[in-house]
This record gives sequence, C-alpha cells and structure tokens, in this order.
Amino acid sequence: MDKERARELRELLSRVPKVRLGFFPTPLHRLDRLSQLLGVEFYLKRDDFTGISQFGGNKIRKLEYLMADALEKKADTVITYGASQSNHAMQTVTACRRLDLHAVLHLVSIVKSEDKDPKANLLLDRIMGAEVHLEPMFHEDDQEASARAEIKGKQQMRELEETGHICYEIPMGGANALGSMGFLEGYVELCEQLLVKELEEADYLYLASGSGGTLAGLTAGKKLMNSRTRIRAVGVGLKTESYKEKVAAMATDTLRLLNVSETVEAEDFEYHDGYYGEGYEVPSEAGTEALLLLARLEGILLDPVYTAKAFSGIIDHVRRGIIEKGSTVVFWHTGGVTALFAEKEILGDIPK
Ligand SMILES: *Cc1c(COP(=O)(O)O)cnc(C)c1O
Repeated sequence: MDKERARELRELLSRVPKVRLGFFPTPLHRLDRLSQLLGVEFYLKRDDFTGISQFGGNKIRKLEYLMADALEKKADTVITYGASQSNHAMQTVTACRRLDLHAVLHLVSIVKSEDKDPKANLLLDRIMGAEVHLEPMFHEDDQEASARAEIKGKQQMRELEETGHICYEIPMGGANALGSMGFLEGYVELCEQLLVKELEEADYLYLASGSGGTLAGLTAGKKLMNSRTRIRAVGVGLKTESYKEKVAAMATDTLRLLNVSETVEAEDFEYHDGYYGEGYEVPSEAGTEALLLLARLEGILLDPVYTAKAFSGIIDHVRRGIIEKGSTVVFWHTGGVTALFAEKEILGDIPK
C-alpha cells in the first residue's frame, strides 16, 4: 500500500463531479475490549457517522456522486425505491433537503407499516417532508412488490416530466456504477487512514452487503490500490445466483467511469451468505447476540438488518479460524441504527 498511489487516485477521482454532503473521513478506530476478546486487531470504520442527519450511513457516500449527477441534469425531483424502513431512502431525503430537491419515495412494506404511527426511517422521511408512497405486500416475495413499486415510480416520473419537471431516478440502494464511486473513494480513504496510523494493510475487510454497491466500490478501490486485503461481504438476504457477477460487473463499470481498463472479477471478493437467517429484515438469533455483544462490550450500536448479521459472521469466522488469531480486521459500520426503533418484527426480541 503506498501513499503515492492514494494520491494518484485522489487526483483521478477529483475529475468526477461530486457534491460534498457528509463528514469525511469518517473515524477509524480500534476496539480494545473486542480485540482482546476475539484475539485479533479489530478496527471499526464509522460510516454510521457520515451525517447529514444524526442518522448517517453508507448511502451518503454514493449520494455525493449521484446527487452531483442530478444537479448536472438540472433535476428538481429525485425518485427512489426501497423497503419502508430503507436507510437508503431516508438518507436520500436528507440529501434532497440539503440541495432543495423534492424527494419522492416508492417503498415496499415488507413489514406492515402503520401509516398513522410511522416508526424509525419512515417517521424520519415524514418529518423531513418526503412524498412517500407505500406499496403493500401481498402473498408474494419482496422482489415482486418492488417491481410494482418501480413501475409506479416510473409512471409518476413520466407524469411529472410531462408537466415540465425534471426527475432523477436512483435505483434501490443507490446501487449503480456512479454510486459505487463513493466507495471506491471510501477504500482510498481507509488506506490513507491506515497509512497515517502507520498500520499495515488490514488482513480482512468485512461489510454487510445488500444491493451490492458498497461491495462493488470497495472492491474497485482495492483493485486500484493493489491491496492485499481480503474483502469479505456478508449477505443480508437471499440473492440470485448471479449476484457476485453482478457486483463484479458494477465494480468494473465504476472503473470505466474513471477510464480505467482493468476488470473486477467475482474472485476479487468473498461473499458469505450463511448469516442472514430467515431473510431480509427478519432478525436472526446470532445477529441479536452479536448486537448485544458489541453494545455491552463497547457501547457501540449495530442495526439488526445489516451490521449485526455481518458482525455475527465475523464472530463465527473467528471461532472457526477463518480469521486467524492476531489478524487485523476492519469492519465497515454502514449505519442503519434507526432500525433499533423500527417495528418489532424487524428488531426481534431483546432479552432483559
Ligand atoms: C444499504 C445498507 C447496507 C448495504 O449496502 P449496499 O451497498 O446496498 O450493499 C449495509 N448496511 C446498511 C446499514 C445499509 O443501510
């Protein structure tokens, strides 16, 4: 890992339009008690502190690039998608407020959302004045309901554009090549921080992976930094067979936006899908245990949908020796803690 390479990449990145939305670099710090317990050097990368609001998270990095594109296209309205408790949707609303854009959300109620008594992110969306459309789920999986929400979003976009508005559509999770640029940059940021701390490169970088944009960007960043760190993504729900290939293709497309001809392959990262339990937004026992462990050991909160499940994977990997004792492990905290105040079905049982 070298300083000169990081500088070159900063220069390359500076040519891509970006609006500064969050507080960067986010802190990187060692967790002493957890390190001792697990027998590893454990560092946490605090993207739960990205801002803009008190409830930051990983989508802000993506939105810095996506929103720059929206502004360049002179959009007055941003439309995006997700679950009713989507962190991405909530963070998109904060970005829209900052930039004076109208925010339209087409959200799927994976858990039954109480429209009169909204909780957590749905409540925040309302407080910040987003236009929220809730798509109910019938006896179907969330993919089908999501497809319906997207059709409705596109329909509304056409109507708005007929009346002279300019709309900017962001896919679920902000997952596209441009959004992932934020995490290519995030990887460079991590390397810079490790250099300042005079640390070796991390042996392992863990993160929770959903739409895959974060994983794609970090992997693209690792490639450009010629880093030996092994990226280990932990899945948070059932994915299609081609998930890894899709993520690799997204990462390659991010490199193309920088006119870099290298290609990212699915072998450039690991994807571990044994830790999401019954499904997306369904709490798992190991996840709850992991959440309680970190909260009680270090006073740091995780969310039940993403980070707690990823952290349960880390704990299991230490136990099974898939992480060797003495390794340096960085866990990317992607935020999401508002889910602690979401519907009971999402949080699960917290014992006394
Ligand atoms: C969206 C999200 C992720 C996953 O990021 P992707 O880029 O969608 O894979 C992880 N953690 C939290 C808290 C998130 O909100």
